[in-house]
Amino acid sequence: MPIIQMPDALANKIAAGEVVERPASVVKELLENSIDAGATWIRVEIKEAGLEEIRITDNGAGMEEDDVERAFLRHATSKIKNESDLFHVKTLGFRGEALASIASVSKLSVQTSQGDQAGTLLQLEGGSLKHRGKSDARQGTDITVSELFYNTPARLKYMKSLHTELGHISDVLNRMALAHPEVRIEALHNDKGLIRTSGNGDILQVISQVYGMSVAKQMLQVELKTLDYSVHGYIAKPEVTRASRNYMSTIINGRFIRNIGLNKAILQGYHTLLPIGRSPIVVLNVEMDPILVDVNVHPAKLEVRFSKDKELFTSVENMIRDRFREITLIPKVEKQP
Ligand code: ADP
Ligand code: MG
Repeated sequence: MPIIQMPDALANKIAAGEVVERPASVVKELLENSIDAGATWIRVEIKEAGLEEIRITDNGAGMEEDDVERAFLRHATSKIKNESDLFHVKTLGFRGEALASIASVSKLSVQTSQGDQAGTLLQLEGGSLKHRGKSDARQGTDITVSELFYNTPARLKYMKSLHTELGHISDVLNRMALAHPEVRIEALHNDKGLIRTSGNGDILQVISQVYGMSVAKQMLQVELKTLDYSVHGYIAKPEVTRASRNYMSTIINGRFIRNIGLNKAILQGYHTLLPIGRSPIVVLNVEMDPILVDVNVHPAKLEVRFSKDKELFTSVENMIRDRFREITLIPKVEKQP
């Protein structure tokens, strides 16, 4: 067989298999784009667990008329320009794949404006442009993704129940809200409220939204600064535990991540205070120089690698242990006079 280079439409559809696993992946990618665009307010409207429609409206920077079409090309990004930028990623996105991938497996409409003049409206189907027009002059971007996977029947068939898909969407919304308390997030499913945060920057308020007031009341504030890391957040008292590790939220430079080493450090910080098989509720924000963390490990960017991981893990473990010492749950060994 002769070797051909794939047409873009085909390459996008293949990439979509990785980037757009399910409706929740669309919600995640679009929320990340809104946050990268500096939005302070994001509205999410979902129909039928996202399989019918996902609409995300933000008050971010918007896109210039000439840029909008380009945003849907593969590897098109405004976030990195050269190789060196790849090691200093400060944004949630940088791969330039989400919009191209999402558009290739849905019917998508975007309206975007930089506020001062009429904006741009594009409608795409399976990644091809169907209509181009003008939109209102409302500052920000409004993207509607309809009929997700309409042209990839195998993927559509693979979708679990609406209940399961909605659960994944809720997880994404909760994580994003915990990682970005400074952004007001309002989400609705079939016109019923899913989450609503105030955007006033108070993590504890978001914890109360996500896990309930009684959990929020049992949280202890933690803080730590080392040469390379600054850590802040909340850890639940050992009386409040869960059976799953999913309640340990770790956020690196605004990105919700999963890292086995970091989770282990948290658990070791609690040490024997946790009953066997139970996990704590934790929300930890770690800020570090982007050069110390490699985010280019996985398409969904949930996994990262740290270059000074031992130092980070030890500091987190000690921070938690010290916090519990402070509240004297672990009695100090008094020196004999
Ligand atoms: P990436 O986020 O990796 O750059 P995407 O495919 O998600 O790639 O988006 C492509 C580009 O489209 C972004 O780099 C950004 O310039 C623009 N863009 C996407 N969503 C928005 C938005 N909500 N507001 C402003 N610009 C956006
Ligand atoms: Mg993106």
